[in-house]
Amino acid sequence: MNAYKLLTPGPLTTTSSVKEEMLMDRCTWDSEYKNMTQKIRAQLLQLAKVDPKDYTAVLMQGSGTFAVEAVMNTTISGSDKALIITNGAYGERIVTIAQYIGLAFKEYSVAYDEHPKEEEIRNLLKEDQDITHIVMVHCETTTGILNPIEMVSDLSKEFGKTLIIDGMSSFGGMEINVSELGIDYLISSANKCIQGVPGFGFVIARTEKLIACEGISRSLSFDLYDQWKVMNEDGKWRYTSPTHVVAAFSKALDELEEEGGIPSRYSRYKNNNRILRERLSKLGFQTYITDEKQSPIITTFLFPNETFSFEDFYAYVKERGFVLYPGKLTDVNTFRIGNIGEIYEEDITTLCNVIEEYLGVMTK
Ligand SMILES: *Cc1c(COP(=O)(O)O)cnc(C)c1O
Repeated sequence: MNAYKLLTPGPLTTTSSVKEEMLMDRCTWDSEYKNMTQKIRAQLLQLAKVDPKDYTAVLMQGSGTFAVEAVMNTTISGSDKALIITNGAYGERIVTIAQYIGLAFKEYSVAYDEHPKEEEIRNLLKEDQDITHIVMVHCETTTGILNPIEMVSDLSKEFGKTLIIDGMSSFGGMEINVSELGIDYLISSANKCIQGVPGFGFVIARTEKLIACEGISRSLSFDLYDQWKVMNEDGKWRYTSPTHVVAAFSKALDELEEEGGIPSRYSRYKNNNRILRERLSKLGFQTYITDEKQSPIITTFLFPNETFSFEDFYAYVKERGFVLYPGKLTDVNTFRIGNIGEIYEEDITTLCNVIEEYLGVMTK
C-alpha cells in the first residue's frame, strides 16, 4: 500500500511524532499515564477558554458518536425535552440517538445548504415550553456548512436552556469560546482538528450541570457522569482506555500549542480552504455551500459535468498521493475535500495541479 495524505473529515493525516508516541505500551494504572490524562483534561479546558472552576473535561472511549450518545443519554432525563436542530447527517444521527434512548424531542430541520432561522427557533421555544435542551452541530461535516453558533447560543441564554454543541469537526481548528457562548456540553473527538488518531471522544462540560445528572443514564458504558466521577479522582479511566491513542493525543495537543494554538491552526486551515476553493472554481467546480456559510474545514463540490466519474477521479488522485471523500447528498452528485490535519498550502497546490491534470486527461 502506498502512503497517501487524507483529505477527509477524519481520521486525518497526523505527524510522524504523534504516531511515534504509539510505539510504547503504557500501563493504565501507572501514575505517569494517569497524569497524562489529567494534563490532557487541563489543556482541553484551556483550548475551550473555560475556567476549570466551572467546567470539566471527560474523555470517553469510542468514536465521536459514542461521546455524543453519552451526552444525550446522561444529561437529558425522562422529564426533559430536546430541541434538535438539523441540516445534515450528523444532526440526523443525534435524532436517531434520541430515538434509541427514547428521549422526548422536537426536530427542527432545514435544507442541507441553509442555516436554521432565528425566528423559527424562537417560535418553537415560545410554543413548546417543555423544551429544556437545545442541540446543534457546529460544522456539519456532511456538507461543510458552518452553523450560526452565536445565534443559537443567544437564544439558549435568553430562554434559559441547556446547550449541547457537537463541535466534532471544528473544535481545535476554530476558536469556540465555550464559556462566553454559554455552551453546557461541547463534544469533539481525538481524530479531528486536534490531529490525534481515532479512539476516543471528549466532552467539555459545565461541572455543576454534569453533577446534577447523576443517575439519569440508561446505560452503564455510556454513563458520562460515572465516567467523569472515576476519571476526576486521579486520571484513571473507568474501564480500559485506549492507551496508545491517549499518548498520541497528548503529543498532538502539545504540537497544537507549538503551532501557536487554535488561532494559528485556524489560519492554516482557512488558507488551505481558500486556495482549494479558488483553484477548483477556476477549473469549473461549483461548491454546494455558498461562501458566507462555508466552514474552513471541508468543502462539498458538485460534479463538473455529466460524464464525471468519482471512482475514476478518486483512483487517479489516490495514485498521486491524496485520498478524497465521496459526497453524502441524495439530490445532487457531489464529492468532498477536507483540508484539515497535517496539510499545508503546498499539499493543496499539488492536489489542485493533479486535479487540473486529470481534467485535461478526461477531456482528451
Ligand atoms: C466526525 C463527526 C462525528 C463523529 O463521527 P464518528 O465517526 O463517530 O467519529 C460527529 N459529528 C460530526 C459533525 C462529525 O464531523
